[in-house]
Amino acid sequence: MGSLKEKYAPLHMVIPDQFVDRTFKRASSFFGRGLVAHVAFAHPFCADLGRVLGAACRTAGATVHEGGTYICIEGPQFSTRAESELYRSWGMDVIGMTNLTEARLAREAEICYSTLAMVTDYDCWHPDHDAVTADEIIKNLVANAATARSVLRAAVKGLADGARRCECASALSHALVTAPELVPPQVKRELAPIIGKYIK
Ligand SMILES: [Zn+2]
Repeated sequence: MGSLKEKYAPLHMVIPDQFVDRTFKRASSFFGRGLVAHVAFAHPFCADLGRVLGAACRTAGATVHEGGTYICIEGPQFSTRAESELYRSWGMDVIGMTNLTEARLAREAEICYSTLAMVTDYDCWHPDHDAVTADEIIKNLVANAATARSVLRAAVKGLADGARRCECASALSHALVTAPELVPPQVKRELAPIIGKYIK
């Protein structure tokens, strides 16, 4: 993850609680082919899972920031300086090219989703950015990966017994708009793993 604020230094962990979408050519829904659905996405991350991750970061001795907005750009190129400054003026916290699409799909599939964003470097707004070498970024990536392993070990232990009280667990319950009898049989078959408990 790139950092858009001084306070998120390389090797820090951020658990975002919001997204802003700057992608434009990704398949980001299971729906739209004969079945219309609109899931709530005001809170795109599972707060319960985020709390578990936050605690796991502290157990692992990582510096963690809980909350923050992740701006997801299309990539694969990094931002221009003007874009980076624009995102900072919007109050964005971290920047990446992944996560948002899978968060959308996870919510539609009623899967709890959270992000452990590992800062590798400051984005190109930062005065030191041009001096950062690929070697340093790779070194931070490797260090972050080691921390992530400790965090995940702690997080798995912190997961509850499987009972979910969060909104993710029933995201589709009021989201399916098309009348069941109008949904094409093939779509019902293909989406059965996620809509099966609502539409037979
Ligand atoms: Zn959840």
